[in-house]
Amino acid sequence: AKTGGRGRHAWFDNSMERSLKLRGELEAGLRNAVPAQEIVPYFEQQIDLTTGRITGFEVLARWDHPTRGSIAPDIFIPIAEEIGVIGELSLSIMRQAFAAARDWDAGLSLSVNVSPLQLRDAWLAQKIIKTLVETGFPASRLEIEITESALFDNLPLAQSIVGSLKNQGIRLALDDFGTGYSSLAHLRALPFDRIKIDKSFVTSILDNPESMAIVNTIVRLGDSLNLPTTAEGIEDAAVEERLRGIGCAKGQGYFYGRPLGAAQVRRLLAEKRLL
Ligand code: C2E
Ligand code: CA
Ligand code: CA
Ligand code: CA
Repeated sequence: AKTGGRGRHAWFDNSMERSLKLRGELEAGLRNAVPAQEIVPYFEQQIDLTTGRITGFEVLARWDHPTRGSIAPDIFIPIAEEIGVIGELSLSIMRQAFAAARDWDAGLSLSVNVSPLQLRDAWLAQKIIKTLVETGFPASRLEIEITESALFDNLPLAQSIVGSLKNQGIRLALDDFGTGYSSLAHLRALPFDRIKIDKSFVTSILDNPESMAIVNTIVRLGDSLNLPTTAEGIEDAAVEERLRGIGCAKGQGYFYGRPLGAAQVRRLLAEKRLL
């Protein structure tokens, strides 16, 4: 049937109304999701590109929504930041991830993402350290990933939080390197241990010479600053091979498998005798 202008309008209003309704529903649901333990950690393998071995996992949040299924963090992390529950959400994810990974092989590390907003919480380091102590997960096996945009917001506070974390032996990675502004200045502002090369460069290295040049330059920069690099978003063997060739230390991506729940990780590690 032919739809007139009026019909289209009605449809548009309905769809806007629906998306506002969805947003409201997610917002309300999110406040309850953390105490209800609906926000759970998934784990993405990180691979040593020289040996091919698993060195650890990046922790990625998923919302197991009671009616809508699994919701991706790109949807709910921004809402959690906006409504002020990101700190609570993040500590809940860490607590669950630390408890799960505590009895995995002692050589396996965990990398957790920390939101820019959390670097405004003067108690952040204490909260993370308390969570480590309570779960019995060693600080030396933890790496924290932060994105560039976070850093210059309140640099002295960020430096003091990071100082407390590093004093405990926690490592620090600069996430999504190359995507923000003044990347190089950020490298000097905080004592990073690792650079993560954003997947937007990595996925295209074989068909885009600029991407290849950028990735190569980041790896060389890491070399000269004594910072090992991790490439994210490796989707096939050819890209992995190329990254190994230019001396990138670690990699992660769908080539090694999709992120797994804690029970699936246990099965994987049991097969590999890493439990
Ligand atoms: P990120 O930290 O850059 O995480 C990497 C994202 O890339 C993950 O998406 C991962 O599943 C995806 N990915 C991994 N390998 C591949 C690949 O080979 N190809 C492609 N196309 N994608 C790949 P995810 O899990 O949807 O997370 C999205 C973002 O949400 C993360 O980006 C991170 O910024 C944020 N996030 C996730 N968990 C948390 C959390 O607990 N706290 C905070 N603050 N942010 C989180
Ligand atoms: Ca990350
Ligand atoms: Ca990243
Ligand atoms: Ca990202």
